[in-house]
Parts: sequence; C-alpha cells; structure tokens
Amino acid sequence: MTTHFTDLGLIEPLLRALAAENYTTPTPIQAQAIPLLLQGRDLLGIAQTGTGKTAAFTLPMLQRLAAEKIQAAPKTARALILAPTRELAVQIADSIRAYGAHMNLRHTVILGGVGQNPQVKAMARGVDILVATPGRLLDLVNQKHINLTGTGILVLDEADRMLDMGFIRDVRRIVAHLPRKRQSLLFSATMPADVAKLAQDMLIEPVRVEVTPQATTVEKIAQSVYFTDSAGKQSLLTSLLRDEALTKVIVFTRTKHRANRVAEQLTKSGLPADAIHGNKSQSARQGALDRFKSGASRVLVATDIAARGIDVDGISHVINFELPNEPESYVHRIGRTARAGAGGIAIAFCDPTERPYLKSIEKLIRVQLAVAGSPPREVVTERSDAPPAREARPQRSDSTADSRQPDAGRNPSRRRRRPRRNPMQKAA
Ligand code: AMP
Repeated sequence: MTTHFTDLGLIEPLLRALAAENYTTPTPIQAQAIPLLLQGRDLLGIAQTGTGKTAAFTLPMLQRLAAEKIQAAPKTARALILAPTRELAVQIADSIRAYGAHMNLRHTVILGGVGQNPQVKAMARGVDILVATPGRLLDLVNQKHINLTGTGILVLDEADRMLDMGFIRDVRRIVAHLPRKRQSLLFSATMPADVAKLAQDMLIEPVRVEVTPQATTVEKIAQSVYFTDSAGKQSLLTSLLRDEALTKVIVFTRTKHRANRVAEQLTKSGLPADAIHGNKSQSARQGALDRFKSGASRVLVATDIAARGIDVDGISHVINFELPNEPESYVHRIGRTARAGAGGIAIAFCDPTERPYLKSIEKLIRVQLAVAGSPPREVVTERSDAPPAREARPQRSDSTADSRQPDAGRNPSRRRRRPRRNPMQKAA
C-alpha cells in the first residue's frame, strides 16, 4: 500500500508546498520518520543524501514550530540544524524556504568563509530555524551573539562527515549550550563508533530509522572501472568527456590540488570545468555550483568534502578520477547520480596503487565493477547472454579479482568471462 503525504499528518501549507515541488509520494524515510517526529520523538536516521532525509526532518520541524505560535527572542533560534559543509547548509536552507513557503517562519544560515557581521545582524531579532556549520556557530555563541539556551529542536546532519572533518568536538560543545529538554535528531550515512557514541549521548530513547541499505542505491547505478596508470587518467577523462552523452558530470579527486589540476587541464583541452574544494572562497564555490546547476558548465571537479551533500538533479555521470581511500566515500560519491530513484552512471579510474581501494569498495557494495575499456568491443557483441554488469555478484576470490588487468585481452577465454557494458549507457 502506498503512503501519501496526506497520511502523515502534515498540515495544509506544507502539503501545498510539496505539491508545488511535485512530490507525490513520500520516500521511505519520510514515511517512517515524519509521523514520529511530529510526536516529538528523538530520531536516529541512518540515511545518505538522496533518500529525501532533508524533507524528513524539515517538514515536521516547520509544523511543530508553527503549532507553538511563539516568537523567537532576540539572538535565539527555536530550532538548530548543524551541517558539516557550507554547501549542505545552503541546500538545507533552500529546502526550508521551499517547504516553508506558505508559513510565517524565519530562518537564516550561519557559515564560515564569509563575513560575520551580516550573520550577527540576521540573528539580532532571533530566528525560528538556524542552519549552521559548527565552527562559525561556536564562534558566534562564544561571542554571545547567539544564545542557544532556549533551542528546542536540534538536527545533526551527516554526523559521519562531521567526524571526518574533525567537527565532533565543536558539535559537542554546541550541544552543551542547548537545553536538555529538547527534540534531537541525528542523521548519518554510516555509523562509526564515535558517531554511535555521540548519538547515545545526544538522543533520548530515539526511534531508529534505517533506509536504503547502501547496496540498493548502488544497484541503480551502472558502474564500471577503467584500469589505467596514473599518467593516463587525464587523457582518458578528456576523451570520455568528448562524448556529449555525458551531459552533467562530477569528477572526483582525492586532493584539492588534483581537483585544480584536472579542471585546468580540461579547460585547456576545450572542456570548460570548475573545481570546488575547501580552499576556494565561499563565493567561488557557490558560483561554480550555480553554473553547474544551471547547466552553464557541464563538468564539476570536486573533492569529497566539497561535494558532500551537493544536491544537483540530473547528474548523468560520476567519474572517480581517483578512488577514495574510504569505501563509504565511493558510495557517497556515486550517490550524486541516480537521485530520487533515477538511474545513473559511475565510472572509476583505477591505477595500480588504487587496487586495494577498489577491492574494499567492491567488498562494501557487494558488486564487482564491470571493466571498461577492455576487452575490445567485438568480443562483447558475441556475449549477448551476459548478465548486466551492475548486477550484484558475489565477490570472487582474490586471485580471480586480480586477473582484471587492463591487458586481460591477451587471454581470450578469460576475456569473455567478463561482459563489457558500454559505460556510457544509462541504467534502465
Ligand atoms: P535529500 O536526501 O534530502 O538530499 O533529497 C534528495 C533529493 O530528493 C532532493 O533533490 C529532493 O528535492 C528530492 N526529494 C525529496 N523528497 C522527495 C519526494 N518525496 N519525492 C520526490 N523527490 C523528493
């Protein structure tokens, strides 16, 4: 039986806003979490971006704040949402604006990398919802520009990234400023021990909602890997991008330096690309993101942290120029494509030093990536009975897995064991 937004107990102004967004059916996390959050329960949400988690926490928050019919006192926020990156904070604020379009609630965003005065000013009157990154928020709290002692709702989004980025301490300090009596929500795609401990300390008898076990999202994405040496990656990327079927592409690198280099080289080759990473100013990052969103630029080169939570619809391809050393990051990365149920395409470049990373990724997602680039096309056409490459298959033994060399074509019998799937072809 399908759940509808009307079944979840949401009020009319929210339903109207959802209709304007063309949301017809709640996602699983929305269907599970919204009724419980409306009751004021704490929540532990195990969910990654792309599951609809932002609406899952924003909608009940808006409704509860509206029901209280009270005004925020100067310098206070009635609800606080903490996000690890500036981009994510801005996106959450965008969602609040959209879902709260027919409600009279005020929100603002506080983030690092921009002047603090406008933020102090925005907080002077008090807001209903404050979206913030931890560092700047803590600064402003310490300077007594913001008072959190009356904040009754707290959301910690992407707690695992907070941990990766070294924000957990700041988060704990911020939480210490809030009253004990409050509603608390924690979202995380993965649950490392430090996040589990934080959840234990922060939440009271939370309901636990776990959606989209990583493999389910991953299965919707056609994934392939090119084995190449490090030096060959740039020309491989350039030649792939010459194909206009790659309409909106995020290219991931491990380092900021490499992100810059890749974007520069692409631009030199006549393929204009922007890079976003933590060393860029907020306005440069936002500008690059806006160009990418609007379609003015086709290619965005990003590091994991900068790309975290980027909510851009219609990304046709994710290219892992360098594989991440944490397998979870691979899942986050390829989740940029295949948003809200659509299919997507992910292509990885793997040089010999990255073989161990590939192995841990395949172990985590329980899918063996199809090898692209080799064997040659003629061999493929013989294998019309081959299973689609994105189908989950059990891990092979190490020795078999290691046989996937780019030159595997020397042994025709082995070559035929692996179907080649055109990496440009979109998943059904
Ligand atoms: P999130 O996981 O919150 O980052 O949301 C992922 C994407 O799904 C965003 O682009 C949302 O606008 C979209 N979305 C969220 N809820 C729904 C829904 N119920 N129906 C369709 N799209 C949705």
